[in-house]
Amino acid sequence: MKAVVFENQKITMADVPIPVLSKNEALVKIHLAGICATDVALFFGHHNFAGIPGHEFTGVVQSAPEQPDLEGRRVVADINCGCGQCDVCRTRDPRHCANRSVVGIRGRNGVFAEFCVLPLSNLHIVPDGIGDKEAVFAEPLAAALEISRQVKVSESSKVAILGDGKLGLLCAMVLRQFTPNLILIGRHPEKLIIAELQGVRTICRQGGREYETSNIVSEKFDLAVDATGSPAGINEAIRLVRPEGTVVIKTTSFEKSEIDLAGVVVNELNLIGSRCGDIRLAVDFMEKKVIDLHPMIEALYPLDSFEKAFEHAMRKGSRKILIQN
Ligand SMILES: [Zn+2]
Ligand SMILES: [Zn+2]
Repeated sequence: MKAVVFENQKITMADVPIPVLSKNEALVKIHLAGICATDVALFFGHHNFAGIPGHEFTGVVQSAPEQPDLEGRRVVADINCGCGQCDVCRTRDPRHCANRSVVGIRGRNGVFAEFCVLPLSNLHIVPDGIGDKEAVFAEPLAAALEISRQVKVSESSKVAILGDGKLGLLCAMVLRQFTPNLILIGRHPEKLIIAELQGVRTICRQGGREYETSNIVSEKFDLAVDATGSPAGINEAIRLVRPEGTVVIKTTSFEKSEIDLAGVVVNELNLIGSRCGDIRLAVDFMEKKVIDLHPMIEALYPLDSFEKAFEHAMRKGSRKILIQN
């Protein structure tokens, strides 16, 4: 099968054998895959990963010997694969298993290929009402929804989202469904408009000095979400929340952050790290059709043109780039 291989900051288009299934696994034919900021970080060696990258996808089950009823079904998948044996897997959440592999990120090949092997227990069927170009967003959408699982967001909650990158936009559009008192702060008018058209209030501070939001926003928020992708974003979020408020950190920056700890202590803030979410919640959410994901897509490329697609995805300000099989 055709596959993309990342190694030593090089992209190779390779012809590799179709993977062999172990017990309780399925072979999935990948239809659409999305390139995400994590893939760019992998490429630059930040996760110490070598192999087939890619973790955002939708596809069709080609073979599943232990669960043949799945064959031919459209699926998405939870990307965290716990060992299934340890205490964390048995009693808490395999997403935090110390021995986990993560599809296309850690110890397991991903979806920038014609086929991918996934544990049966990670698969979720995509209902007919959800198109492939929506289903491919299941993983980042679940990550956005994770905030609503970690923090109680109600109609009266005042929420600020920092960053109008792909994840920031999704967080804003998702949390807008929980509260009308939400603002998205970004610097790209062409991206902010995507959220605006779906009822999100936005502030653009293009050309403004970095992280001087106090002039733009004088309000204090119950919850601020840092999705800036910048190590300085967290301090901005800290400045925006009220005493005893909450900051959710979505930014995975490989540069170290200098956190304004005094601000956190004096104002008794809650800082919450937030990674992946529950794919089932994302599928249910998509089924309700409350947000339109299509404007998030910038371009589609065939798998053969992966290098071009990846260059495009690395352009600053690009929306979602999809790989089609
Ligand atoms: Zn991702
Ligand atoms: Zn485990």
